[in-house]
Amino acid sequence: MSLNQLDGHTILIGLMAYPIRHSMSPTMHNHAFEKLGLNYAYLAFEITNDGLEGAVNAIRTLDMRGSNISMPNKQKIIPLLDKLDPATEMIGAVNTVVNDHGVLTGYTTDGIGMIKSLDDEGINIRGKKMTLAGAGGAGTAIAIQCALDGVKEISIFNRDDEFLAQAQRNVDLINEKTDCKATLHHLEDQDDFKKEIDDAFIYADATSVGMNPLEGQTLVSDPSWFRKDLIVFDTVYAPRTTKLMEVAEEAGVEHVFNGLGMMLEQGAAAFKLWTGKEMPVDYIRDILFNGDN
Ligand code: NAD
Repeated sequence: MSLNQLDGHTILIGLMAYPIRHSMSPTMHNHAFEKLGLNYAYLAFEITNDGLEGAVNAIRTLDMRGSNISMPNKQKIIPLLDKLDPATEMIGAVNTVVNDHGVLTGYTTDGIGMIKSLDDEGINIRGKKMTLAGAGGAGTAIAIQCALDGVKEISIFNRDDEFLAQAQRNVDLINEKTDCKATLHHLEDQDDFKKEIDDAFIYADATSVGMNPLEGQTLVSDPSWFRKDLIVFDTVYAPRTTKLMEVAEEAGVEHVFNGLGMMLEQGAAAFKLWTGKEMPVDYIRDILFNGDN
């Protein structure tokens, strides 16, 4: 369905957040709808917490198929929905809503996207140990989803800030509700940090370090901390190559990833929830990034 063929049957999907005009999601989803000939349209709406209840009611009233949800609404939307999928209930934040005939279910696809992006590269983290920095939105989604999907052990590091309590909550929830063993660690303990990276199959950084305004910074600056066969994953995708990735490359690490694949695959997972179809991810990657930086 081309964009100029929208008609009376077109199904609407939203994005409700503030600020949101910079988002790549409308481009991503509308091109995917067009490529697959699906009669859907995806529009961004600037919605703050104040307008959220009205916006959620509009999903039902307008019979929208669903919406993406981003800051500042990811947690505030929960009481306004009818159901949460079990992983999302544990994560405590929603980035995707699906409307099934007036019944609204909340999902979080960031962790799914992270795991899928590694699967796409032939890397299976199930049964392995992960050392993870960060317990904000991305870190929580990754930790909980990885624990539910079969990662054997997760060492969660956070600095002593307002996210440390969330890191403790993630560890407690994982130990209580999954077969994964989680432990809490403090970023300030550098010896412990080095040891846990050394013991891990994958080191994932889900902190804001490395992206603007912390661009050029990294939690690990010594290449000797990284084995060549470690997987190094940074959730940041702008810039495309972070300082952490440069350090890993200097160490000769073979598998070093930014967050681009995760971003595309979290969108693809939402796309599948709404349409039942696979997003043409490679096609969309070319459209969004066109090979440049
Ligand atoms: P958040 O604000 O919810 O969490 C920030 C995290 O970074 C916390 O754990 C905090 O303790 C830590 N942190 C911040 N400054 C730090 C510092 N100087 N030293 C050590 N730790 C520090 O943010 P978020 O939404 O979880 O985003 C975190 C990162 O994940 C961002 O870089 C974002 O771009 C990325 N992200 C990527 C995707 C994707 O699809 N690739 C999706 C969501 C978020």
